Amino acid sequence: MDFIRSVALINTENLKKNVENLYKFSNKKIFAVVKADAYGHDACIVSKTLSSLDIVEGFCVATGYEGYLLREAGITKPIIVLGGILKQELELFNRYSLTPVISDFSHFEVAQKLEHKKIHIKFDTGMRRLGFYQSDIEKLKEKIKDFEVEGILSHFPSADTDPDYTKSQIEEFKEIVKMLDVNPKYIHIQNSAGVVYDCPFCNTIRLGIAIYGEKPTQDYPVSLYPVMTVLSKVISVKSVKKGDRISYCGTFKADRDMKVAVVSFGYADGLPRSLSNKGYVLINGKYCKIVGNITMDMTIVDVSDLDTVNVGDDVVIVGKLQDKEIKFSDIAKISGTIAYEIMCGISKRVIRKEVK
Ligand SMILES: *Cc1c(COP(=O)(O)O)cnc(C)c1O
Repeated sequence: MDFIRSVALINTENLKKNVENLYKFSNKKIFAVVKADAYGHDACIVSKTLSSLDIVEGFCVATGYEGYLLREAGITKPIIVLGGILKQELELFNRYSLTPVISDFSHFEVAQKLEHKKIHIKFDTGMRRLGFYQSDIEKLKEKIKDFEVEGILSHFPSADTDPDYTKSQIEEFKEIVKMLDVNPKYIHIQNSAGVVYDCPFCNTIRLGIAIYGEKPTQDYPVSLYPVMTVLSKVISVKSVKKGDRISYCGTFKADRDMKVAVVSFGYADGLPRSLSNKGYVLINGKYCKIVGNITMDMTIVDVSDLDTVNVGDDVVIVGKLQDKEIKFSDIAKISGTIAYEIMCGISKRVIRKEVK
């Protein structure tokens, strides 16, 4: 693997510590959310690691195909497919024993042909994306007769920003669970940001971002450790003259003679182009500003202040180096998005490698 330029090191010890800390805090069964290749962390590595923990009940994915990939990787714990079940996925659900989240009456027609008959029913208590309404309950009671309702769930859109809205969702969900009256094995509404809310009638939580070490809120009460470190390499070091324009479109003009390094990491690797002239990386213990437009495969950074920098030196794109750190949330903030998008945007070219 030494020939790989850009790697994403996945620290599975930290992953386990995060899950354990979240369990200690919430005391509820955990479904680890591993959709989108485990938020870019490699669903295989993450699921295998977490399968060994008793406190992890199973996994959530977005599509049947993602569930199939987990089974192919040897995962035997329950897999819930959050995105429902489509006709063309039926065979996957049957062959690989995947459990659909039913959130639309049309899903029932497909689910009729499910051999295991296990389903989760989703209610919309405020997200306005997937889920039934409270007013659907009578009709639902008819439909679910042929099934084993293993779970009832809902989802928070603003657990990180709007406690009142979130609390009213919990109240509505509580009412729904009572009205549906099926006594399922799993009742779940809380995501990472949601675990701080009191929800005693729920026995299960669905955790994504927090298990990967990013706090969903500033004052999040659970200790978390970073899981992914993204590293690349310096591939050229050169000087530019005062007045030179750097990279495509010449958006950066040197106001002095400078030393720059070219890093083998571009927007095709997942560094958003919107970080051009704004973001930074870490080289040999120092922050180095990105100068000029980020290109597909390379990024140019200012290394004028570095005493030594050589071709082949490590570059930290995301992660910690001694006392300095670049977090996904730091990158997200500068590029005007959220940590989730940066995480799952680290591309396939960046090879994932487990470290313990
Ligand atoms: C992605 C997702 C989660 C996980 O959310 P985090 O904020 O990452 O914890 C939970 N539930 C549903 C329905 C999701 O789509």
